[in-house]
Amino acid sequence: MDEEKLGLHACVTLAKIFALDEQQLRGLLLGCHTHDWQHDPLFQGAYSYVATGGLDASKKMSEPVAGTLFFAGEHTDTTGHWGTVHAAMRSGLRAADQILNQSVTSPSGE
Ligand SMILES: Cc1cc2nc3c(=O)[nH]c(=O)nc-3n(C[C@H](O)[C@H](O)[C@H](O)COP(=O)(O)OP(=O)(O)OC[C@H]3O[C@@H](n4cnc5c(N)ncnc54)[C@H](O)[C@@H]3O)c2cc1C
Repeated sequence: MDEEKLGLHACVTLAKIFALDEQQLRGLLLGCHTHDWQHDPLFQGAYSYVATGGLDASKKMSEPVAGTLFFAGEHTDTTGHWGTVHAAMRSGLRAADQILNQSVTSPSGE
């Protein structure tokens, strides 16, 4: 779809989501801009993905090293949602939780 068609399509969807009048939404639309990530030479489509044989990689990458290095990021999501914003956010909470639990169980008792 070209930009104009995408904009109209988005208005239909928005109108449905927010129970608004589609024509009114179209009237409020100032413009439409799209970006073709597939053909952007810097991104090349660029969603992350799990390579063959790497199903356990996320779990391994979520494990702390030496009790001092903690990892977050979409690639460390262990719920199968890697490559998304919510995976990145959840991984941050998980890493924070690991840090807090680490300090509670620190051998030095600090
Ligand atoms: C084109 C595209 C469209 C997307 N659309 C969606 C979508 O619609 N919905 C959705 O949920 N997700 C989408 N995603 C995925 C989502 O953007 C990512 O999963 C999410 O941003 C990952 O967050 P992150 O914090 O793990 O990593 P990032 O956001 O990649 O953050 C990593 C940061 O580390 C920095 N960094 C890297 N190396 C170093 C270094 N050596 N030293 C210091 N800093 C460094 C980088 O500059 C970057 O700022 C899309 C991704 C792409 C590429």
